Parts: sequence; C-alpha cells; structure tokens
Amino acid sequence: MVINLENKTYKKITKKNAILAYEKLNETYQDAKCSLDFTSPFELVVALILAAQCTDERVNQIVPLLFQKFPTVEQIANAPIEEIEQIIKPCGFFKNKASSIKQSACIVNEKFAGKVPDSMEDLQQLKGIGRKSANIILQECFHHTVGIAVDTHVTRIARKIGLSNSPTPEKIEQDLMKIFPKSYWYRLNHILVYHGRAICIARRPQCDHCPISSLCKKND
Ligand code: SF4
Repeated sequence: MVINLENKTYKKITKKNAILAYEKLNETYQDAKCSLDFTSPFELVVALILAAQCTDERVNQIVPLLFQKFPTVEQIANAPIEEIEQIIKPCGFFKNKASSIKQSACIVNEKFAGKVPDSMEDLQQLKGIGRKSANIILQECFHHTVGIAVDTHVTRIARKIGLSNSPTPEKIEQDLMKIFPKSYWYRLNHILVYHGRAICIARRPQCDHCPISSLCKKND
C-alpha cells in the first residue's frame, strides 16, 4: 500500500507484517526495559524531566545526588532553586529543568497530597511532563497502560518501518494504537528504543544486521 500524506509518498507496512516485526523485535530485545533508575514515582518524574537532551546514564548518576540532598517531595518543593540547578547542571538545560522539578514538586505537594497522581490528565499538570512521560510513569509506577510512549526512537522507526508518517507524537501514538493490540503497547516503546540504540540508529541504520530488514519499508 502506498500513502500520500502532506505531499510525501511513503510505503506503509501491512498490519500482519507490523505484528510480525513486533514479534521479531520482542524476541531480539527480550531484556528491553525502562533504562531510567528510580525507587519512587517522584524519582521517575525527576528522571524524565532530566532525560530531555541527556543520556539515561547521566540521568541515573544525577537523580540519586538530588534525592540524597533533598529526600522528599516536600524538601524539593522548598529547596533553593540554585541548589537544584547546581546538582542537575551536568544534565544540560539546568535552569529550565530545575524550574520544572521544583514546580512539579510543589504541584504534587499541594494538589495531590504529596503523591504522584495516577491518571494521564493529572500527570500532565506537572511541569515538564507531557503525554509521553505520563505514559511511562503510568506504566512503570502504576502498571496502568492507556497509550504508547512515543519518543524520538519510536517516531523515527515508526516512519522507517512504515507504521506511521504522522507529524506529531500524539498522532503517531494514535496510529500505533490502531495497529497493535493493547497487550503490545507497553513493550512496543521499550523494544523500539532498544532497536533505535542498537541497530536502527539515527542517520546510520545498520540495515544489513537488522532482524526485520525483510519486513521494513525503509522509508526515509
Ligand atoms: S531495516 Fe534498516 S531502516 Fe528498517 S528498521 Fe531495520 S535498521 Fe531500521
């Protein structure tokens, strides 16, 4: 099937082959999981805010330092912003990220009695937490799947394989939710992220070594 969208023609994978591609990737990346470390829902909120334009490895080094200094949501809400900035500086964009962390702590503290909320709508009231991060928090902390977390890897690979050519993460998520059964949604993010880091790397995909090369439409 060929689809013409926004003056761009791209090849779309069939639903049957999309499921086959999922199964092959799921088999290849059996150990795929969230690569951010956390011991509480608010630690994951902070990790996701810090992860923008930063490696998960660095985030995993910095989050424990912040919580060593300010162990509770309330302490972060009341912390001097300069001290938060100083600790998280290695993660980049530290002024914006420190502001989001502090404001999120205040919102959790004041609106949600100190507990990270467990609904998509409430989570998106936190600063720096959009639909992608809310999906991850719901799945990882509350075992509640309402959608698919669409990040840069998912966006790129969904396009290349022929799963979606929609222009926004929200629309890509809708496309993926139509193709895959709900029981696949949680794993889909993790296996595409692992595939994007290992083989379908941005600007230099290793198609010769790809387990789904025969199914992929290789759209650019
Ligand atoms: S065949 Fe190439 S473009 Fe397609 S998923 Fe594999 S690495 Fe990516």
